Amino acid sequence: MEEDPRRRVPRTDLLLRDPRVEAASDRLGPTMIKDAVRRAQSRVRSGELAPEMIMDAVLADLPGLACSLRRVLNATGVVVHTNIGRAPLSAAAREALLAASGYVDVEMDLATGQRARRGAGALDALLERVPEAEAALVVNNGAAALLLATTALASAGAGDAGAWAGGSGVVVVSRGEMVEIGDGFRLPELIESTGVRLREVGTTNRTHLRDYQEATGPGVGAILKVHPSNFRVEGFTSEVGIEDLAGLGPPVIADIGSGLLTHDAVLPGEPDAATALRQGAAVVTCSGDKLLGGPQAGILLGKHEIIEKLRRHPMQRAMRVDKLTLAALEATLRGPEPPVTRFRHLRAEDYAERTHALAEAVGGRVVAVAGRVGGGGAPGVELPGLAVALPTGQKARASKPEQLAHALRTGDPAVLARVEDGQCLVDLRCIEPDHDLSLCAAVQAALGDSAVQALPRSAAAEAAEGDSAAETAR
Ligand SMILES: *Cc1c(COP(=O)(O)O)cnc(C)c1O
Repeated sequence: MEEDPRRRVPRTDLLLRDPRVEAASDRLGPTMIKDAVRRAQSRVRSGELAPEMIMDAVLADLPGLACSLRRVLNATGVVVHTNIGRAPLSAAAREALLAASGYVDVEMDLATGQRARRGAGALDALLERVPEAEAALVVNNGAAALLLATTALASAGAGDAGAWAGGSGVVVVSRGEMVEIGDGFRLPELIESTGVRLREVGTTNRTHLRDYQEATGPGVGAILKVHPSNFRVEGFTSEVGIEDLAGLGPPVIADIGSGLLTHDAVLPGEPDAATALRQGAAVVTCSGDKLLGGPQAGILLGKHEIIEKLRRHPMQRAMRVDKLTLAALEATLRGPEPPVTRFRHLRAEDYAERTHALAEAVGGRVVAVAGRVGGGGAPGVELPGLAVALPTGQKARASKPEQLAHALRTGDPAVLARVEDGQCLVDLRCIEPDHDLSLCAAVQAALGDSAVQALPRSAAAEAAEGDSAAETAR
């Protein structure tokens, strides 16, 4: 009679001594290895895995990284997608990030050995890109920048701001700019959470200069102008520009949202920092990881005296960014055009060839689609593009577009497609061309072999493997 394989569960210490496991342990640490060993042993114990196969199972079970985040190919055509981490960083920013991950002179002057201005390089880079700003400050995200500006200025003294007497906790804002930014977070609630009192003026669709004038009495520390970045009010509307608000006395805080530093012709309605400052904003706040294309950050640009007030506010310390953010931000500002800028400027003809090649390889159809800026930016702006409508139905393994999208999301690499009008669409706008092969292989895998045509599966699969190995090694 054959021995019960469950009695032959290989011992942990023997498994851990295997050179391949030792190498993986150097990379991933002992905890993850032991967990994988235990999982494989219990599969042997249950009879599901032959004891001879345990080493293969352990190695196959080990993740590529000591971090559980998975790389996602963004085939949605939405350039800034919050749920998959907004802006992908440029190669220059990734390298800077890696370089900054050790000890670096983030807050030290190496010549003197003394403490120096934290993140001076990133701040200088901001001022070079936006000469209209006298000073800059970087905090954790756009919401923090807004919170800091409103909290610090609501109760700040007037300084040398002329006729304005300084505030006692009140900030004036239009009812047309009371924005909810996603996941249930509302800017007015956020601002009031620090004790600032908002004085709402105007109506949802129309606010006039006289509304602001009547509200701007004693106690008002600042006037807030928020770009309603994720919706549009059309029809009978009116709002007051920064130029007019700047003449009322209190400093104007302009939350432009998506972080365009200068005007972009592709996005005519999107405000930019340089213009807002020229129009008289005392401080502009925005995000680093939307249209700017950098790491998550909140950027404040403005008058020297105002920025200094914000920098000295106790709350600033709780919003301080780390060296990684500063490094990636500086490289984004100084380095080559970041991916989000390239992606949003792509015209349909610029990636038609790649799209047709993919369609042919997977048996799909090329259709015209409207790409989006996303990330709660430039609502209503359509980026004319192309996508491959994947085959679904009787012959394909996934018979519904939702099933196919699910197979793509859970494949390797994970692919995020778009389901629209009963179709599963794969848009190459936000895919780097050197990921096309690995995307193609992932689509073919999701479709099952039935749809495979032009591109030899093995070549595509190899490319995909090479690709993910390179990613792991980085
Ligand atoms: C996105 C956005 C914010 C919040 O910025 P985060 O970087 O997401 O914190 C605030 N205001 C406006 C107008 C925005 O568009």
